[in-house]
Amino acid sequence: MKCIRCKKTACVALPSHHSGFCKDCFPLFFTKQVETAIRREKMFTHDERILVALSGGKDSLALMLELKLQGYDVTGLHIDLGIPNSSGKARKKVEDFCDLHDLDLCVFEMEKWGLPIPDIKQYVKRPVCSVCGKMKRHHFNRIAREEGFDVLATGHNLDDEVARLFANTLRWDTAYLSDQGPTLPASDGFVRKVKPLFRLSEFETANYAFLKGIEIHSDPCPYASGASFTHHKELWGELEYRSPGQKFQFYQSFLKKGKPAFANLEKETGDELNPCIECGSPTSAGTCSVCRIKAAVKASKAEAEVE
Ligand code: SF4
Ligand code: ZN
Repeated sequence: MKCIRCKKTACVALPSHHSGFCKDCFPLFFTKQVETAIRREKMFTHDERILVALSGGKDSLALMLELKLQGYDVTGLHIDLGIPNSSGKARKKVEDFCDLHDLDLCVFEMEKWGLPIPDIKQYVKRPVCSVCGKMKRHHFNRIAREEGFDVLATGHNLDDEVARLFANTLRWDTAYLSDQGPTLPASDGFVRKVKPLFRLSEFETANYAFLKGIEIHSDPCPYASGASFTHHKELWGELEYRSPGQKFQFYQSFLKKGKPAFANLEKETGDELNPCIECGSPTSAGTCSVCRIKAAVKASKAEAEVE
């Protein structure tokens, strides 16, 4: 197969675009997709400060590098979850990457904050991943808000978005369906959230990271259950193989037709939000759920120490 742009030998085949690219032209295709996403979904401008959530995986590091190359004002945010034999390695990859590319980075340590993820696993009677995800979203938003960033960018790709949309559709979860999309505007103490890689598949992001020589953290988290969205991604992989372009079409059609319908349905049903009395994050209760979890774990630990 020849590169559709320069006619050299292609190294990345993209059936969904009826094309293939060589190693020099593929990053240009990637750049174009990110530019289109930012422009069409009105994500941010060159005058705004962007906080990029960096896990150390291929998607977040590829996003950070690409936004920097496009001249945006980006700062990375890594959350050190405090998981033994895992978090330290992820953090090192992020720090090395930011040093290499001369990028600003903030690191937030769950251990220093008083609630490392192993404590959640031990003391909270809920699936650790759902609480860990809640913690990460909470701190991303809190830090972006407190530090005056205009927008929070995450490395969610097309496969992530389609798997989430599919799961929400299977449950007809109208609240989530009305909220899902590549740009979530700022509201009530929440900063604007954007997903500039939503037009690119996991395969495409992995190729970009590889061709740009990005060193990624790819070890699975020791607490990963493997359940979250993995089966849906496998199903969609099969559909995409049989009918290339299906994933993007499903997602785009949702944005055009489904999302506005669900947004209408959910209008006016939300609770009033006020700042949490402990941390200032928006909540419909006096104290937000994250501060309540932190207090409950502290109490359980103290009780366990007495016994
Ligand atoms: Fe957190 Fe679960 Fe992801 Fe591990 S797999 S980082 S516990 S959400
Ligand atoms: Zn709080």
